[in-house]
Amino acid sequence: MFEVKHESGKARSGILYTAHGKVKTPFFMPVATKASVKSVESEKLAEIGYEALISNSFILSMNPSVKTIQDLGGLHKFMNFKKTIFTDSGGFQVLSKEFLVKKSDEGAIFKNPKTGIKDLFTPEKSMEVQIGIGSDVAMTLDDVPHYNQNGKDYVDSIRRTHAWAKRCLEEHKKLKEEHKSKQLLFGITQGGITKEYRTFSTNKITKMDFDGVALGGMVVGETRKELMNAIHTSLNDLPETKVRYLMGLGSPPDIIRAIGAGIDCFDSTYPTANARHGSLITDQGRIKILNKKYAEDENPIMEGCKCEVCKNYSRAYVHYQLKTHELLGYRLATIHNIYYMNNLMERARKAIKENRYEEFEKEYLEEYFSGSEKPEFSNNIQTKYLKKEEKERPIYYLEHKK
Ligand SMILES: [Zn+2]
Repeated sequence: MFEVKHESGKARSGILYTAHGKVKTPFFMPVATKASVKSVESEKLAEIGYEALISNSFILSMNPSVKTIQDLGGLHKFMNFKKTIFTDSGGFQVLSKEFLVKKSDEGAIFKNPKTGIKDLFTPEKSMEVQIGIGSDVAMTLDDVPHYNQNGKDYVDSIRRTHAWAKRCLEEHKKLKEEHKSKQLLFGITQGGITKEYRTFSTNKITKMDFDGVALGGMVVGETRKELMNAIHTSLNDLPETKVRYLMGLGSPPDIIRAIGAGIDCFDSTYPTANARHGSLITDQGRIKILNKKYAEDENPIMEGCKCEVCKNYSRAYVHYQLKTHELLGYRLATIHNIYYMNNLMERARKAIKENRYEEFEKEYLEEYFSGSEKPEFSNNIQTKYLKKEEKERPIYYLEHKK
């Protein structure tokens, strides 16, 4: 199911096997909440080299519905992505203000904002939805606490997350047989950034029979130092033999550091959301392509980038297309950013294989922060600057929109 092939310090590379093939680790997944990575079709993702993406089962279950996706041949066929698909349980959405009516140990009563119909979403229901649409890797339903809440909320979140994890596991076992499915199930740990809580949750979840372990409830507003401490704390108690997935982390330097600490898998709307706001990733940090200094710049977005945008178009063209809100602008910017992320993972895997990851990490970070524009490093979530649709994920380090 998961095989570690090479190690370099604490970083490791390997292969995750799913019903839709192999995924080389460490890897980054673009987010396809509504069965699409915004503005880019599935064939393009495959062409770029993506072996996995993540969709949101809760959102899809409301619209178009599990039945519709089943009738159309399952999620892979529906969105024409032939490789590995993860599905998020939707824990974060179910429990967000937009949907939540009431939360209890049984599950969450939510309101479908479109129809107004209220429904009970339970761990069992979440398993049914994920196996129903046919993803390769399902995530447990967890209770995500908000950052900096008082101790009692964290304790409640952990208690509920563990009880729900157990129910997910039992239901999943049953459904897998019924559906003759090879779907994997990953457990999610909680505990915020408090060492004792994190350790307690990690130990509980790793003792259950999950195929992989995700670090949940992170990247929700904590400082970078708190985040890295929480990762190191968790890794002390995670088994070597299972995939380690850090949910929601997307900024390239953070990912490079987390791989160095031993994480294998990431997902975030970071590259896509930033692209749409004109923030393009390069080895020298992000450039704000909407800045008027790029209006006549004939260079590619990033010198040496082999993506089709950098091969064929200038910064000036991308600037103009985005500035005038042409649909092509969003697409070109997104293609460059997601190409960059996939290529970065390839470079990380190569460095691990050649046992020079520490050196690679140091060189990468030095160059990344050498750029003239340093928009990175705001440690707080800035969701208030995001459009409504972009609030579907808990985090991005998106710049202030003026
Ligand atoms: Zn490029």
